Amino acid sequence: MNCLECGEKIIGRSDKKFCNDACRNAYNNKQNKDSTNLMRNINNKLRKNYRILREINIDGKTKIPKSKMDGLGFDFDFFTNLKVYKNGSEYKFIYDYGYKLLDDDFVLIVKNQA
Ligand SMILES: [Zn+2]
Repeated sequence: MNCLECGEKIIGRSDKKFCNDACRNAYNNKQNKDSTNLMRNINNKLRKNYRILREINIDGKTKIPKSKMDGLGFDFDFFTNLKVYKNGSEYKFIYDYGYKLLDDDFVLIVKNQA
């Protein structure tokens, strides 16, 4: 077995994954940093999407061209929850703002149905 951090061969117990505490700490710190960065990137995307929806949706319900949202940098892959209503319509929510893609390349934005 080789150390997961430095790759050195480990002497001693066969179930050890690291040669010493320093290697274990270095390895764990790296793992945590990766997941922290990933979460931060996703949170930033959600925050940006939310800000865009909030700026667009002034009257509680707004219909705008999808191209306009693309132009503002809205990322349709990121949302906080999906809601499917009995009539089959599907809304993607980012916190309290939801949107639905319409057939004619428009987007319907609503507020507060999460
Ligand atoms: Zn090591």
